Parts: sequence; structure tokens; C-alpha cells
Amino acid sequence: DFILDKAYFIKVIKDLAEMIEENRDYLTGLDSEIGDGDHGTNLSIGFREVMKNLGQWENENLTVIFKKVGMALLGKVGGASGPLYGSMFMKLGEPAHGKERVNFKEFYEMFKSGIEAVENRGKAVVGDKTMVDALRPGLNAFTEAIESGEKPEKAFGTFLERAKEGSQSTIPLIARKGRAMRLGERAIGHMDPGSASSCMILEVFYRNLLN
Ligand code: ADP
Ligand code: MG
Ligand code: MG
Repeated sequence: DFILDKAYFIKVIKDLAEMIEENRDYLTGLDSEIGDGDHGTNLSIGFREVMKNLGQWENENLTVIFKKVGMALLGKVGGASGPLYGSMFMKLGEPAHGKERVNFKEFYEMFKSGIEAVENRGKAVVGDKTMVDALRPGLNAFTEAIESGEKPEKAFGTFLERAKEGSQSTIPLIARKGRAMRLGERAIGHMDPGSASSCMILEVFYRNLLN
């Protein structure tokens, strides 16, 4: 049976922090094309705060751990991505219902809950050139994959693939949310930084599923 325990999620959180450091300059570079050049720095500040405190949270259940991760991002990150990813992580643990492990259905519901939180907070829809362009089509593909009976690892692979396509699809768009909105047509030709970081985040969950 498919069960993910706390060790999986703790490893994911640590890998997320590492991944953000590795990609900090790349993400900031994307943001300097169509934003204010701080997306990588913002996430780095947030995840450094998470890593500073993670040791004290490790005895908590998954709902509490993710709530604390989200609150750290919300509290420390100044940019738009702080409240958005903050809400996502805060809601991610809710479907775990105070437990230390989840089955596949609950794992799926974690992403549903987290991504809906991003949409509720930021009010962006697909095509607005934001992280939602990666997350929403990815989640829809994940849902369909599960409904058509795909195995967990394969279904999550579909989630990630579709999210990456969604991120690529932001390149030709004009932004209707966030800072890039001010650029009008000058945003055309540039990938949305938040859609890129969203894919990287999903990729960390995926890589650890395969291990
Ligand atoms: P800021 O724009 O405040 O400097 P960041 O650079 O950290 O914050 O994050 C920018 C990213 O936030 C964008 O690339 C976009 O993906 C995302 N974003 C901005 N506004 C919204 C929104 N309303 N809904 C969803 N995502 C958004
Ligand atoms: Mg920015
Ligand atoms: Mg900023």
C-alpha cells in the first residue's frame, strides 16, 4: 500500500530549502526580466527561516508541521510569493488531519487543498501569467490521472509534466496579475518566475517519491 510518512515530508522540506538555494539566482534572474528581481531571494529568506526552526517542529504531526512552514513563509517573505506560498503550505497539511502519515488519497488532497489556497488568496486564473498557470493544469492532470487508475508515482509524474508545460505556456502571455502586469506587452517572451518555482517545488516532492 502507498503510505507516506513524516520522514518523507521532512526530507522534502529540507530538499526544498536546498533546491531554493541552488536556484535562487536563476529565479531572481527570471524575476528581473518582468518583475523586481527578488523572487529567488524572497524564497531563500523564507526557507532559511523554515530551516532555522524545522528541528523544533519535527515532533509535530503533518498538519502542524506544514502550518508552521506556511506561517514562516508568510511572516518572513515580503513579496507576493510569501502570502501565496505561505497559504499553500499552511493548507497543504490539512488533509493529513493531524496524523503523521498519509495514504495516496490524502496525499492528492494535500495538493488540491494547497493549490486552491493559492487561487483563493491571489484570485489568479489560468492565463494570467502566474504560478497558477503551472499549478492548476498540473492539478487537473493529476486528478484525471488518478481517475483513470494511474499508479501514484506515474500520476504525480503527470502532475509535474503538465505543470512544466503550464509554466512554458506563460512565456507568450501578457500578465493580468502581479508586478508583471505593469509591463503590458513587454512581458511577452518571458517565463513567469512563480510558475518556474512552482514546478521546482513539485519536482522535489516527485524526486522523493521515486526514492
Ligand atoms: P513580488 O512580485 O512581490 O516581488 P515575488 O517576486 O516573490 O513577489 O513573486 C512573484 C510571483 O508571484 C509571480 O511570478 C507570480 O507567479 C506570483 N504572483 C503574483 N501575483 C499573483 C497572484 N495574484 N496570484 C498568483 N500568483 C501571483
Ligand atoms: Mg519579485
Ligand atoms: Mg518584490
